[in-house]
Amino acid sequence: MPAQYIDGKAIAAQLREELKQEVQSIREKGYEPKLAVVLVGDDPASVVYARSKEKAAKNVGIAFELCHLPENSTETAVLALIDRLNRDDTVHGIMVELPLPKHIAKQKVMAAVDPLKDVDGMHPLNRGNLLADQPGLVPATPLSCIALLERSGVEISGKRTVLVGRGETVGKPLFFLLLKRNATVTVCHTRTKDLAAEVRRGEIIVVAAGKAGLVTKEMVAPGAVVIDAGINEGEDGKLVGDVRTAEVAEVAGLISPVPGGVGACTTVLIFANVIKGLKLQKGLA
Ligand code: NAP
Repeated sequence: MPAQYIDGKAIAAQLREELKQEVQSIREKGYEPKLAVVLVGDDPASVVYARSKEKAAKNVGIAFELCHLPENSTETAVLALIDRLNRDDTVHGIMVELPLPKHIAKQKVMAAVDPLKDVDGMHPLNRGNLLADQPGLVPATPLSCIALLERSGVEISGKRTVLVGRGETVGKPLFFLLLKRNATVTVCHTRTKDLAAEVRRGEIIVVAAGKAGLVTKEMVAPGAVVIDAGINEGEDGKLVGDVRTAEVAEVAGLISPVPGGVGACTTVLIFANVIKGLKLQKGLA
């Protein structure tokens, strides 16, 4: 029987409605939630992402400030901006658009963001909190993978779960989120000896490698749940994931497509992080 597709757009709409209600109740407590996006230079994709976040913020009732610095800004100037936003009580979330220009050290900038305003969840303290199972901010993409699984009624506990990718933004944080939910997790990467054999053992398979077409039908056990977090440009310029969706759908039980899967929920969950951060800052959590 062919797989059922997970409707990421419908799940994103659900998450958005819940978030709007939460924003409303935060506003009733007298707070005006606000996200500041730091954009250095004019990387066309980053400019588009920043603008689309502005629209999405408005849609959920979160105020938005775009802090756009020129490409030739010094690292000191970027750090000074972060410091200003950290100390600004009206800003509850800070997001740094990547990539930063080469002369600016990404790790230094990420570590300068107040951990309670770090909506990317990339500050060392937040990464440590995730590892130690303590409250903190977690990156939106792995949260999106979990939302797709949980809201599709997939039982995670005890399941043989294979994660393809150990990247800092998706694979690694997702490993801890899955472990917290009692999955039995195998993490694969470029040094994995027999990727197909490892993936085939998965009852749940999550792919975050950034390689179009990496996961084929032969690698997937009948009935497995497949979540594709990959974002790649296909041959025709269209957005594709890491999984050969059409052929894998012939064997999988449930599959999330690209587009319309993980990516659909990620932006909403970034805004959810603004509210989570605000609550942590104000002692409302
Ligand atoms: P990353 O840091 O580049 O990590 C990629 C991981 O995949 C690495 O661990 C790498 O192994 C592994 N990998 C690459 N090719 C492989 C192969 N042929 N076989 C096995 N493993 C392989 O990437 P990331 O930042 O975590 O992002 C992962 C993907 O998610 C990308 O496609 C990115 O665009 C996408 N993404 C999606 C969203 C969304 O909202 N949907 C948001 C952010 C990122 P090594 O560690 O051995 O190099």
